[in-house]
Amino acid sequence: MQVIETPQAMQDFARDARAQGRSIGLVPTMGYFHEGHLSLMRASAAENDITITSLFVNPTQFGAHEDLDKYPRDVERDCDLARGAGVDIMFTPTNEMMYPPGYRTYIRVEEWSDMLCGVTRPIHFRGVATVCCKLFNICIPRRAYFGLKDAQQCLIIKKMVEDLNLDVEIKPMPLVREADGLAMSSRNVYLSEAERRDALRISQALFMARDMIAAGETSAAAIRGAMRDHIEQSPLAKIDYIETVDSRTLASADTVKPGVLIAAAVFFGPTRLIDNIIVEG
Ligand code: AMP
Repeated sequence: MQVIETPQAMQDFARDARAQGRSIGLVPTMGYFHEGHLSLMRASAAENDITITSLFVNPTQFGAHEDLDKYPRDVERDCDLARGAGVDIMFTPTNEMMYPPGYRTYIRVEEWSDMLCGVTRPIHFRGVATVCCKLFNICIPRRAYFGLKDAQQCLIIKKMVEDLNLDVEIKPMPLVREADGLAMSSRNVYLSEAERRDALRISQALFMARDMIAAGETSAAAIRGAMRDHIEQSPLAKIDYIETVDSRTLASADTVKPGVLIAAAVFFGPTRLIDNIIVEG
């Protein structure tokens, strides 16, 4: 596995590879890998000639009071894990390389960037869309892999690709959980023992929602209410949102049916965790 640091060197490499007819799969990440990240890398390695993983803690997607400075980092461990998952190139640019002095251009997917996570994080998806567009132009992937853990992000990136006629196929991949159900996240390391225990209530609430639906419940309000009750039994939990929306349009769903995204964001102390399920047919 090779590490490439500069956007110019990365783009030169990608251009050569494409000219040789080799397909590139891209896995954009912020590092501190867990099995969720590695599942994307393995999927890319299986489908493409070359897999690039970008490791960049993107400052433009963090709000002023968020965790940019303390976001967990361990590049050496990440390189070992990525190598084991079949990654060929780690792209590790610095902030200054991605946003040099005088940088002025941003991409914003209207409306969808203001919903769900966008309410508490108003600039987040602008940063995500911008950095992904830059990464697509630098790495020239045929396919790019994103986890459904961040379902809204997947939708926004797909929309950007469609609206801007970008030449890349977006591959949404399944959400990976810990053995006890907690959605894997680099941010889980922030949790105290008690918070880690109570954080389980998020996935439990989602599984409870799934059971209610299987038993015939169709009222989204009833499901959201039951989820809220379950999560609020923890004094450590502060719910940001529990929403039921169409997984293709993000339109609010009053009736729960196949294709509805049930998504939750919950604070444990300063740590904000997200999780979701999509109702199956
Ligand atoms: P991050 O490093 O958190 O920005 O995540 C990089 C990519 O990994 C994104 O496409 C995420 O959606 C994906 N990802 C993060 N956690 C998980 C998970 N638990 N399951 C599947 N994909 C994930």
